[in-house]
Amino acid sequence: MSLSEFNQKDYEIIARDYADLKEAARKRCANEKELAMVQKAFDFANEAHKGVRRRSGEPYILHPIAVAKIVVGNIGLGYKSICAALLHDVVEDTNYTVEDLQNLFGEKIASLVDGLTKIKTVLDNEDKATKKSLQAENFKRILLTLNDDIRVVLIKLADRLHNCRTIEFMPEHKRDKILSETMFIFIPLAHRLGLYEVKSEMEDIWLRFKEPEAFNEITAKINRNINDKDKEIESFIAPIRNELEHAGFRFEIKKRVKSPYSIWKKMMTKGITFEQVYDLYAVRIIFDPTVDTTENERAQCYHIFSIITGIYKFKEDRVRDWVKHPKNNGYEALHCTLMSNTGIWIEVQIRTRRMDDIAEKGIAAHWAYKREGVAGESESQMDKWIQKVQEILVNPDVNALELLDLVHNDLITSDIFVFTPKGEQKSIQKGATALDFAYSIHTHIGHKAIAAKVNYKLVPLSYVLRTGDQVEIITAEDERPKREWLDFVKTRKAKNLISDYLKTERNESTKIGKRILEEQLKNLDLTLDTKYIHRLMNHYGIYEGTPDQLYFRIGAGIIKLNNLRELLKQPKKSKPNFLSWLLKRDAKSDLVINDVSDMEHNFVIADCCKPIMGDSVVGFMETDGTVTVHKKTCPVANSLAAKYGDKIVMPKWKVSQDHAFPIRLSITGVDRIGLLSDIVRYISLVMSINMRRILLESKDGIFEGNIDMYVHDRDALEKMIQKLKRIEGVKSVMRTEL
Ligand code: MN
Repeated sequence: MSLSEFNQKDYEIIARDYADLKEAARKRCANEKELAMVQKAFDFANEAHKGVRRRSGEPYILHPIAVAKIVVGNIGLGYKSICAALLHDVVEDTNYTVEDLQNLFGEKIASLVDGLTKIKTVLDNEDKATKKSLQAENFKRILLTLNDDIRVVLIKLADRLHNCRTIEFMPEHKRDKILSETMFIFIPLAHRLGLYEVKSEMEDIWLRFKEPEAFNEITAKINRNINDKDKEIESFIAPIRNELEHAGFRFEIKKRVKSPYSIWKKMMTKGITFEQVYDLYAVRIIFDPTVDTTENERAQCYHIFSIITGIYKFKEDRVRDWVKHPKNNGYEALHCTLMSNTGIWIEVQIRTRRMDDIAEKGIAAHWAYKREGVAGESESQMDKWIQKVQEILVNPDVNALELLDLVHNDLITSDIFVFTPKGEQKSIQKGATALDFAYSIHTHIGHKAIAAKVNYKLVPLSYVLRTGDQVEIITAEDERPKREWLDFVKTRKAKNLISDYLKTERNESTKIGKRILEEQLKNLDLTLDTKYIHRLMNHYGIYEGTPDQLYFRIGAGIIKLNNLRELLKQPKKSKPNFLSWLLKRDAKSDLVINDVSDMEHNFVIADCCKPIMGDSVVGFMETDGTVTVHKKTCPVANSLAAKYGDKIVMPKWKVSQDHAFPIRLSITGVDRIGLLSDIVRYISLVMSINMRRILLESKDGIFEGNIDMYVHDRDALEKMIQKLKRIEGVKSVMRTEL
């Protein structure tokens, strides 16, 4: 921020922006008095920020105006929130106090501004790099304001969205902080509160700055694709329009293209290319139901569904009924995927006007409909969540980091629906296995589970459930929980129940084992002595830990003390300690990167995202000075950045040809004779790059597969990708998760 006289042009821009806002606000204001309050708030803020500019050089007041525009336009809040948005930086940045605002604008508006100022102070404090990890605390503080008035969080989201829109004017280190904070705190919040527009725009900005190349490539492809495919989509829509009109529906049809971020996310998590993202397009049917009751809305959604599936073939496993069972963020719609006459899959979303408003604007729209008495089941879902968060927060002992993980997990995981053998519908966390399902029904059923039948087919307990599955758990009375189960269960509930059982069982076995050993020693006229215990531990390969581990194995029958006499007579042999050897070997790696200040650190490449030289990376310093290096886009890194902002270092790659990094390319194209040998020749001979593994599959003349190799840096990788793309028949080549 800087001070300077405003010129004529500045005043013109301010007047123009405010006129836009006023136009939007007019629709939300119930009367002239409310609109006059908005005017008063603007006049006051305009005067307070007069002569002040943002980093971008524009007058500061444009920021509060923009925030107020988001508040009314994207979130749909009313005049008090619009006023608070206009005034949100006044207390923080000027000499006015909350009391002043109270006198001028009343209790409510002043308290909203007060809440916003508090959040801002909390977030900014972290810059001073105090000793504690503050972002988790910040998150807690932000959530605490939910207790006072949820509008504070909503206006804060608008403020953050505008800061993201103008992030290019920030210095790089601040940019990173804002982006990771956005990804970790604000996007999940926006998602949870159902603010689709806000969330989606934040995600796209995040991608644009974290992975500019990917962002540009995807956007270019989207644009090219839209031009190519627009006619096809239109001819897909035409018969739908006809039939719906014929049936007497009042509706509009919108075409939607997946956002760059969600395309990128899908490519990354599924390891596929842009061309393989099949649900690129969505067509949205928004209709005005004839009578505004929930039951009727639903019936009409199904009616439309039956009409359009009469025209086109649909994918049976892609029908999603969020009308009957709204998502936990309040989302309602009926989704299905249809095959166009030209052979592309197109997702069709069927919604009423009310559902569409809630889907785009979230909680505020939901309240508006609630007041009018036409809200669906979603209200209880959203209200329930807010209540749950409030309950957790009431407890003053709650650890901020734990809370963060808890709420965060709850925020990002969505539910799927499965059926019991009797046809009862149950919701369960996405990614949950058959065993999770067993535990969700009853602890006893989980403990005794041996397998499951999904859609009448026998599957292992580790089977990952999908929406619509009918699940039957098969139990056996003599079955009991196993340690391996912990490797695949997904829900917190199942994890806790299994570990609790194992712990109790372990204690039991440990007690029995100790007793057995004591008895056996007694038979040899010996007592339970440390000397013997250590000798036995060594013999059975227990190099670390306590004697309890020995007792446990004896008690569980893993160790049979058949030759105890000989064993204790033998002189002890020392064995290598494999565990500590392994740990030592992995602790360091001789990487060739330095941090900006050229400090000497041990650098370790993070296993989760495996960055290579040239990738934009971020480092986290461990307590021993070791720095773990992640890709900037790595979700693990984002969560670390949000939790331990003060441990971030910005590593720089040093040019070196000595180190090679493993990467994976996914490659697709049209098969032909000699293609494989051409690819191999290019990689190993032309580029002299070390190949680790190549796996190509060919089907109906199309091939796809992966190639693993070592490369020195990103430049070499780019060059190679370009070369491979030029080989005849090769359609796409891209780096994917290893
Ligand atoms: Mn602001």
